[in-house]
Amino acid sequence: MAASLSAAFGLSGFSGPVGAALKQLDPKHIPRLIYLQGLSCSGCSVSLLQAESPSPLTMITDYSQLLFHGDLSAASGPRVMELLDSYVDGRAGEYFLALEGAIPEGMPEACMLGEHTLIRYLEKAARTMTGAVAIGSCATYGGIPAAEGNLTGAVSLPEFYRKRQLEPLMITIPGCSVHPDWVWHTISHIVRVGIPKLNKYGSPEIFFGRKVHDSCPRYHYFQEEILARHLGEEGCLFKVGCLGPEALADCPSRWWNGGQTWCVNANAPCVGCTAPIFARSKNFPFYRHSGTG
Ligand code: SF4
Repeated sequence: MAASLSAAFGLSGFSGPVGAALKQLDPKHIPRLIYLQGLSCSGCSVSLLQAESPSPLTMITDYSQLLFHGDLSAASGPRVMELLDSYVDGRAGEYFLALEGAIPEGMPEACMLGEHTLIRYLEKAARTMTGAVAIGSCATYGGIPAAEGNLTGAVSLPEFYRKRQLEPLMITIPGCSVHPDWVWHTISHIVRVGIPKLNKYGSPEIFFGRKVHDSCPRYHYFQEEILARHLGEEGCLFKVGCLGPEALADCPSRWWNGGQTWCVNANAPCVGCTAPIFARSKNFPFYRHSGTG
C-alpha cells in the first residue's frame, strides 16, 4: 500500500536536517498502521488529510506505513480483508491500531468490516497489536455517538478495553475533529523518540498539557471581568458559553487550517471539543440553538 501510494503520488520529502533525519530511518522500524473507523463522521480522517507539514502522504509512507484505511485503501474486497486479517490474527508482524469513532457495543452490527463486526476486530487486535491510538473525541471519550440516549450503546476505545480487562498500550488524541498535527506529530514522536509523555487521560502532554483558557489571548479580559454578552462583542467569551476552562488543548498557540485561525480568534467560543464532557449531555451548549440565527 505504502509503496503503491508513494509511486502513484511521488514523495517530495523534506529538506535540511529533517530530511537527513528521515533518511536515517530504518524502514523496518517505521510503524505499520491499521486505521479502523467506528461510529464516526469521518471528520478526523478529513482533518488528517489537511496536514501541511509533514504532508499526509509523507506521514503514511515515510513515517508510517498505512496498511488499511476504509476510505484510503486502494485495494478492496477479499484482498484487503485478507491483509487486515493477517495482521489482526498475528500472522503478519507488528502494527499499531488507530481507531476513529466510538464503538457500538450495544448494537455490534452497526459497524461491520466485511462479514465481521468491528468489535470482533478490536478484541482480536488487543492481543496482537503493539499499541492503539484513539483518534478524536468519539474514540477517546465516546463523543457524539455516546451522547445522552445512546441507542447503539456507544463506548470509547479505552472504555471498551477496560470493560474486557484488557490493557493494551493506548494513546488518546481527542478533538472534534482532531488537529492533524496532534496525530502526525505523535506518530513522528513514536518513530523518532518513543512513546510521548501522556497526561491523566492518556493524551500527549505536549498538546494536551494546558487548558485552552490558560493560554487564551482573551484571558486578561476574563481577569478584568470584561465579558462579552453577545457573539461579536469584545471581551472574554465565558458568558456566551466558552468551554476553554474545561478543554485541554494547545489551540491558542497552534491555530487551525494551516495556521489561519482558531475558534476564539474567529470570535466563536471554544466548544470544548477535547474535553471528556464534550457533547455528552443533551443540555450541552453545542446542541442548543442560540436563537439569533
Ligand atoms: Fe477562557 Fe474562553 Fe475567555 Fe478565552 S474566551 S479567556 S478560553 S473563557
